[in-house]
Amino acid sequence: MKERFFLRYKFTALLFSSIFILSGCSLRSAEPITRTGFYFDTIISVTVYSEADAACIDGAFALCGEYEARFSRTISTSEISRLNAAGVLKNPDASTVDILETALTYSEMTNGAFDVSVAPLSVLWNFTGTNPSVPAAADISAARSLVDYHHISVTPDAITLQSGAQIDLGGIAKGYIADQLKTYFLEHGVKNGIINLGGNTLTFGEKPDGSAYKVAIQRPFAESGNTIAFLETRDCSVVTSGCYERYFETDGTLYHHILDPATGYPVQNDLYSVTILSDSSAAGDALSTACYVLGKENAIHLLQTMDGIEAVFIDQNEQISVTDGLTYDAGTGKIGWK
Ligand code: ADP
Ligand code: MG
Repeated sequence: MKERFFLRYKFTALLFSSIFILSGCSLRSAEPITRTGFYFDTIISVTVYSEADAACIDGAFALCGEYEARFSRTISTSEISRLNAAGVLKNPDASTVDILETALTYSEMTNGAFDVSVAPLSVLWNFTGTNPSVPAAADISAARSLVDYHHISVTPDAITLQSGAQIDLGGIAKGYIADQLKTYFLEHGVKNGIINLGGNTLTFGEKPDGSAYKVAIQRPFAESGNTIAFLETRDCSVVTSGCYERYFETDGTLYHHILDPATGYPVQNDLYSVTILSDSSAAGDALSTACYVLGKENAIHLLQTMDGIEAVFIDQNEQISVTDGLTYDAGTGKIGWK
């Protein structure tokens, strides 16, 4: 229970710290209107700049509810739960096909560092449970042997799982949904806004006074409002994966929710977090998880093969480094584009 409360507290802190920073706008700009909700086991918020735009937020939250009911691994009636239970799902919703195809693309691109079939391990570790503990080594090894995205086949008519594979969209769903919300807002004539799904931030347009949004990166393990760096951006997704987001500690070891499909254990490296800057938030979400798994050096190699994607690494000494397309000023904490 304590852990649970602690996690909620952290999400709240994360959210309010970003709102605090994001709403520090100039006198000339319209006042931001921010609404919050609770979806995907986290606090989400949407910020827009006029009452007319705010009228669309209810529709956006309704979409969140629909996606959650379809994609959740823990809601027994979701398409993903039914697929995991039966091994096959006939006539899936088009969005389920779409997110799975996207997830498979990133599973392939990252050679399984991001593996959307990680569910047997997620179920076993159960980081969202009330009292998570370290599973038995034999159980980890058994679950690990089931994780292989090659065992998923997707067509518009059916999704099929072979050899005990199970789906967990936890590493990509918030990014995918953020992209869908942005599309929804643009279709409804909302040109400027900030979508924040549990710290997974997607900005679009700009502030009404023409200035950029300021998006902060949370200082790992720190209290509310304590940010370590920031960037000024217009249309950009900013997604962070880190070991400080969901974890428990046993005998002095920290066990966190980003799992290495190769070992079955939480990833162990010298990183506190990886933040991905990209156009697509689905890409940012999958790649932030993958880059955390890969570690800084391998992540940089991977990202060099991709266009328009940059990363910010924070190591265990709180040292910040950035990929080639970015600048970082340690004095001000500002991250910029070259
Ligand atoms: P957050 O959910 O805090 O934004 P991530 O995007 O890094 O963080 O996603 C972590 C979640 O992704 C885990 O809770 C789990 O559901 C899933 N996951 C964990 N390890 C992997 C992995 N190697 N590949 C794909 N998904 C993963
Ligand atoms: Mg992710």
